[in-house]
Amino acid sequence: MSDEKLLYIETFGCQMNVNDSEKVAALLKGEGYTPTPDASAADLIIVNTCSVREKAEHKVYSYLGRFRGLKRERRFLLGVGGCVAQQEGARLLKRVPWLDLVFGTHNLHLLPEMVRSAEQGKRRAAVDFIDNETRLDLFPRVDDGGGVTRFVTVMQGCDNFCSYCIVPYVRGREISRRSAEIIDEVRGAVAGGVREVTLLGQNVNSYGLKMPGELTFAGLLREISAIDGLERIRFTTSHPKDISPELIACFAELPKLCGHIHLPAQAGSDAILARMNRGYTRQEYLQKVAALKAARPDILITGDVIVGFPGETEDDFLQTLSLMEEVRYTDIFSFAYSPRPETAAASLPGRVTRKEATERLERVQALQREMTIERHAGFVDTCQQVLVEGMSKRGDQLYGRTGGNLIVNFAADPSLVGSLVDVRITRGFPNSLLGELAPMQ
Ligand code: SF4
Repeated sequence: MSDEKLLYIETFGCQMNVNDSEKVAALLKGEGYTPTPDASAADLIIVNTCSVREKAEHKVYSYLGRFRGLKRERRFLLGVGGCVAQQEGARLLKRVPWLDLVFGTHNLHLLPEMVRSAEQGKRRAAVDFIDNETRLDLFPRVDDGGGVTRFVTVMQGCDNFCSYCIVPYVRGREISRRSAEIIDEVRGAVAGGVREVTLLGQNVNSYGLKMPGELTFAGLLREISAIDGLERIRFTTSHPKDISPELIACFAELPKLCGHIHLPAQAGSDAILARMNRGYTRQEYLQKVAALKAARPDILITGDVIVGFPGETEDDFLQTLSLMEEVRYTDIFSFAYSPRPETAAASLPGRVTRKEATERLERVQALQREMTIERHAGFVDTCQQVLVEGMSKRGDQLYGRTGGNLIVNFAADPSLVGSLVDVRITRGFPNSLLGELAPMQ
């Protein structure tokens, strides 16, 4: 197909989904689709779903309901991908007759072909898990056409079965991608102008462990770090149980590895961590944090916290607050627990009332807000190295991120996009920093 058609993607959920949506856009570019921010003008609408939150399926069905009338008014194709698609499969096509295609989290590579069929009126659902770990098309290679930063998937799925989490059921078991292919993709991205890569997976620390002869994740970081022209490396997400001394040492040894780690603790009490099946104690978590801070004294740590998990007492909850204070996270994602079907925690006794969980969430968020503001204020009058990513939304400033992953806005010439520059921080806000270009030395 060569005619230009418009593609609108609505993305729900986590970074993995954002990355999948980028891949969808890149894959469909080859079918003549150009992204548009305007759903009402689109020839193809893709809804990339997430099933982590409670009642996600109901929300997706009701979201899709709004397209019923629109479909009568004008011609366009409607597709659903992501975790709810994986979970519901062909049932979605049956229950939503105006839906054209459904693709699971392991079937992105089939999308161009499915869209071509849909253009000819053939409706289809593809949600099979692919368990052959050498299948290269699990990780379709994409060229998203520019940009300074790029996400590169290194593995997907998870074998950890945290008792509250649906990922192992909808994303499947861990599959790592061959290191040679990842390195090749990063080299290609750098040749195309990318300066920073974020290596992505549900549990990157266990990268390669189940593939005989494959590099460890630390080994992969070292190889990628040797690529000329690449300035920065980040990765996410890291399971505290699996972060190895070898990986911690990378923070001391590899200057290109950014001084930031997302290390989700989820809770501060051993009783709750055990119920969550997290595989570490509070003390073990804090030891890993201490080792990271020893390897890279200026490292910034972000995390995740769940409150109101079944059986969580006030004392358990206070231990979560004290853990947050000990670690001094720069920021966290915080959630009130909600049960997901199929997960072990859904049948645990000791439900915390919604009111209590909401109150605890507010206390967590208030504490984090205070710590974030204090941390951001601490950067005022320091000089930070910033990779300039683009123009800010207001259009009168540039924005970029520090090695610690803080967003910095500052006024400067747009020709600096793609460069590493020194910025003197002048103000800290709750979500970002403001600065001015530091004079050249
Ligand atoms: S490590 Fe736990 S929370 Fe993270 S994806 Fe795996 S099962 Fe889910």
